[in-house]
Amino acid sequence: MTTADFLDRAEQVYPLRSGVVDEPGHFQDGGLDTVTYGGLAERARAIAAGLDELGVGRGERVAVVSHNSARLLELFFGVTAWGRVLVPVNFRLSRDEVAYIVEHSGASVLLVDPEVDAALADVTAGHRFVLGAESDGALLRPDAEPVPWEQPDEDATATINYTSGTTARPKGVQITHRNIWVNGVTFALHAGVTDRDVYLHTLPMFHANGWGMPFALTGLGVPQVVIRKIDGADILRRVERYGVTLMCAAPAVVSSVLEAAASWDGPVPGRDRTRIVVAGAPPPSRTIQRVEEELGWEFVQIYGLTETSPLLTVNRRRAEEDALPPEERAKRLGRAGMPGIGTRIRISDTGEVLARGNTVLEGYWEQPDATADALEGGWFHTGDGGVLDDEGYLSISDRRKDVIITGGENVSSIEVEDCLFSHPAVAEVAVIGVPSEKWGETIKALVVLAPAQQADEAELIAHCKKRLAGYKAPTSVELREAIPRTATGKVQKFKLREQYWAGQERQVN
Ligand code: AMP
Repeated sequence: MTTADFLDRAEQVYPLRSGVVDEPGHFQDGGLDTVTYGGLAERARAIAAGLDELGVGRGERVAVVSHNSARLLELFFGVTAWGRVLVPVNFRLSRDEVAYIVEHSGASVLLVDPEVDAALADVTAGHRFVLGAESDGALLRPDAEPVPWEQPDEDATATINYTSGTTARPKGVQITHRNIWVNGVTFALHAGVTDRDVYLHTLPMFHANGWGMPFALTGLGVPQVVIRKIDGADILRRVERYGVTLMCAAPAVVSSVLEAAASWDGPVPGRDRTRIVVAGAPPPSRTIQRVEEELGWEFVQIYGLTETSPLLTVNRRRAEEDALPPEERAKRLGRAGMPGIGTRIRISDTGEVLARGNTVLEGYWEQPDATADALEGGWFHTGDGGVLDDEGYLSISDRRKDVIITGGENVSSIEVEDCLFSHPAVAEVAVIGVPSEKWGETIKALVVLAPAQQADEAELIAHCKKRLAGYKAPTSVELREAIPRTATGKVQKFKLREQYWAGQERQVN
């Protein structure tokens, strides 16, 4: 069970079929934007041969910071299928954040998208190439046969995906070939993927490897349409142009599609044909109903984490639910779902969701203590609060870890607090997530200023924007006289959140 299995089948069964359709004018300079599955396999082999030539050995890390693109997708195979490890990095991170990941992962090669090249000019590794003509020239060796991976090992790490969790620094989630295989195949099965599908990459590929879809879709010969910048109307245009049938998205993206559809001229593309798989935060049932009614798309919810490759539970309309009134159906789809095949879910005595199965991470890269904590007792601790109803469906009710999810991206509140603390006027700070119509949650900082110091909201936000990825900066700052603490000096985040979440059913969005 290795990632090569997916690529080999695509090449054998679908060599002439469009594999990846990139942004116009983006892929092969001045030439076609489409690469066939045969072409994708050839390019992946040429990359493996190029890495041989550079002396990059098995198990060595290749980091890539890129928007969605055909060149990023081919690295999923060109790097991992020959036993090397891909580190896909969030392109929205700041220079320092990327530098930390490149260094911590010990990457020997760094590839950067032309759009982030200038911002990351001094971030480097043994080899550094800009994706495009430069990386093609340096990496692709189409005339050489790559040295085979002599003993393919399904338990070898295939990718390391850095994720913001409970610590100030992101942790590197080691996902094995076996994790990818099981996740890809079960996900495709539950989403009902066939070779008649056309997929649109509305989810960033760096985020949990695009939830594993790039692997599953390749094995099944599904054409994959790339989109670099998320825009509701642009999504609809591509659904129409390419006959898209399937996409994955965070709730914020769903909202942007609904907004665009409201002013779309003519019938909404994809009606009765497209399905959208949503996760990252619990979607409101009103949104689910609107997807089914206003778009005529099928709504599927999944729940999972980078640490679980990511699939844990699925909620897809069952045959028995077809005749239910739309409102009732939407309510039922608002739950995170039932475990996917091979996954076991249980709620701990303290209300935490625990998971077991073949998609659970190998460990956090070079963080044995964090790994031991996360896997204590043989179950993966999700850090999410959840409940199982009498039908056995899981709903996520609360986030126990100190993480804010805004627009589908995780932000460690500790990281933002650390950043605010580095401002000389800040004496105390607590960062929380508050509800937002657009982003699900948005970041709020409660700040106590040091005596005789001055700083206003705009200045503190600008301070964070300079140091962190833009989406991690607070969108509001409230100056307070004090921040209430427990007798042991702990800030109780749930208490601070209370006033902003009053009247909401749950404490996460
Ligand atoms: P990530 O590792 O970035 O994919 O984030 C995983 C986190 O997203 C989980 O621990 C949950 O807090 C949240 N999440 C993912 N899917 C759902 C869902 N369907 N409902 C509620 N929260 C979700």
